[in-house]
Amino acid sequence: MRKKIVAGNWKMNKLVGEATELATAVKRSLADKTDVEVVLCPPFTVLKTVGDIIANTQVKLGAQNMHWEKEGAFTGEVSAGMLRDLFCHYVILGHSERRQFCHETDAVVNRKVKAALTANLTPIVCVGELLEQREANQTEEVVTNQVLKSLAGLDETGFRRTVIAYEPVWAIGTGRTASPAQAQEVHALIRRVLAKMSNPGAAQAVRIQYGGSMKPSNAKELLSQPDIDGGLIGGAALDAAAFVEIVNAAG
Ligand code: PEP
Repeated sequence: MRKKIVAGNWKMNKLVGEATELATAVKRSLADKTDVEVVLCPPFTVLKTVGDIIANTQVKLGAQNMHWEKEGAFTGEVSAGMLRDLFCHYVILGHSERRQFCHETDAVVNRKVKAALTANLTPIVCVGELLEQREANQTEEVVTNQVLKSLAGLDETGFRRTVIAYEPVWAIGTGRTASPAQAQEVHALIRRVLAKMSNPGAAQAVRIQYGGSMKPSNAKELLSQPDIDGGLIGGAALDAAAFVEIVNAAG
């Protein structure tokens, strides 16, 4: 049985005071939640603030990006070791906004995934097709390639540990959600690709989140699909009540 995992991607939102308020409200409702893994991924600037608030609870801390090198002359970057130092357990890698605005390629994402695993961080690897790719019937090819390249060369332990987030780019922040059937179809495809890359047992162990305008009103139906193992939540994660409701819909 895969334990569902719901992560809030706060993106570039929340100053210290606001982050304190949001993390405190989430903690109030979810501190003892054990049937769903709950992760908060705030911006770097408030990782310490949020980490201190959720310390000694069931809620885990994650970052939204990292560099693949351990240290050195990489101005503006943050390493996996630095994230571990702040008690992060997770890191989102290859989010479509980073692929689009920071030109991250699958090869870059693959280097980051390996560096994260080496540092004992769990990567949440984002994949997903653009609207024009879906309309041109290229979803299967695009997502297959992203999974193959982003997860290339992992050993079985790293492979099983890695979380994948299927996020159709046309559904991110648009209010347009993939239907449960559309999402399930791609999740099942991803699991078939994972089985070919490793073995069916390992593929069954990997958790695959759905992301893209998930909210309290659609979470239950999406999360009840057989291959949807949680959610990566953007907009709705900025509201404690909405986020908590999604987590509770997961288990
Ligand atoms: C995201 O950016 O990971 C995301 C899923 O955003 P939203 O929930 O706002 O669509």
